[in-house]
Amino acid sequence: MDLLEYQGKQLFARHGVPVPAGRHATSVEEAVFAAEEIGFPCVIKAQVQIGGRGKAGGIKLAKDRDEAREHAEAILGMDIRGLTVHELWIEAASEIASEYYASVIFDRSAKAPLVMLSTKGGMDIEEVAAGDPEAIARLHVDPLLGFQDFHGRRLAFEAGVDSDVVRPVGVMLAKLYEMFVAEEATLVEVNPLIVTPGSASDGGGREVRALDAKVTLDDNALFRHPDNAQLRDPSKEDPQERMAKERGLTYVKLDGDIGILGNGAGLVMSTLDVVAEAGGSPANFLDAGGGSKAEAITNAVEVILSNPKVKAVLFNIFGGITRCDEVARGLIEAFHQINPQVPFVVRLDGTNDEEGRRLLAEANLPNVRTESTMDGAARKVVELATATPAAASAA
Ligand code: GDP
Ligand code: MN
Repeated sequence: MDLLEYQGKQLFARHGVPVPAGRHATSVEEAVFAAEEIGFPCVIKAQVQIGGRGKAGGIKLAKDRDEAREHAEAILGMDIRGLTVHELWIEAASEIASEYYASVIFDRSAKAPLVMLSTKGGMDIEEVAAGDPEAIARLHVDPLLGFQDFHGRRLAFEAGVDSDVVRPVGVMLAKLYEMFVAEEATLVEVNPLIVTPGSASDGGGREVRALDAKVTLDDNALFRHPDNAQLRDPSKEDPQERMAKERGLTYVKLDGDIGILGNGAGLVMSTLDVVAEAGGSPANFLDAGGGSKAEAITNAVEVILSNPKVKAVLFNIFGGITRCDEVARGLIEAFHQINPQVPFVVRLDGTNDEEGRRLLAEANLPNVRTESTMDGAARKVVELATATPAAASAA
């Protein structure tokens, strides 16, 4: 689950990572009120799950109440690369001497968290990684030992941070790591992590602060974090994925127009490959598991067909413990309930496959054809999808 900047910053604050004072607003009035509470100058920031808001005009500095109103009016409702801004975060403006980059991600290939630090912050880190990989200091952390003080110092020296802030940068990295573990995140990214110029009033001491927050939490661990689970915004979720989740199905939405249903995750994965190989583009991954009951099949087919892009469906069953004749009976019943408007290709192979295909042939279902090989089924479904006009599937 990806958090909005202000949600990430609230977690930062809870774990002692320094952030500017801020308030949330969903209307111009609220934004002006929030700005007055925070004081001027303040920054009005669009809250959408996409980077590059600054460049897109979604982040603006307000010197007074009139400017706060003007910026809030301009940013609310703004379209930032396809996302409409409905929420704002109003924050005390920071003075910036340097912009750094810090992140903790889970590196699956190393089976350990990876902490990164760079003094080239404020810009696209992928560009830095491509053009100047040396500028990013990296360190894997042994999850059993955790993040130690010397890790922070080593990263700070390697990245070349200004010597007066080596200590606070190290402390911030330690806190980001602690938050990463405690909240069960898969990504915690701060870009920019800023160094303030320091002022005579505080003896010239420079501070570090997280000016942006990008946090991804592990969905599979959310049940252990009920507070975090509440941060989920159902309106931002994909409708098919939400529907599948409610029905307890393993479904992943893809970009294409061929619905895929199979029994067993491995079989479904290879079905996606075979369809792609045949020149088609899968609309989803859906593992129906080992069941053959009509209800389970109906549930799954309804989720697939609720995606308006789907022009044809491939139902790929390998009968092992689940027998093909049982699956065929389930499918026939499901078809009578749903009466789908898009063509289905059913590939039955394995235990009792001949019996299964015979049952399907006898049922004489409109829009259904059977195949005995995966290759043949894939080619057939691609051919049917190509011949079907778009958005014909509203079942
Ligand atoms: P992003 O563009 O979506 O990554 O949004 P950020 O929160 O990272 O902001 C982009 C840029 O806006 C930062 O790199 C800063 O240069 C600038 N910015 C954001 N907040 C402030 C602030 O309080 N003061 C100043 N001077 N600049 C800011
Ligand atoms: Mn940023």
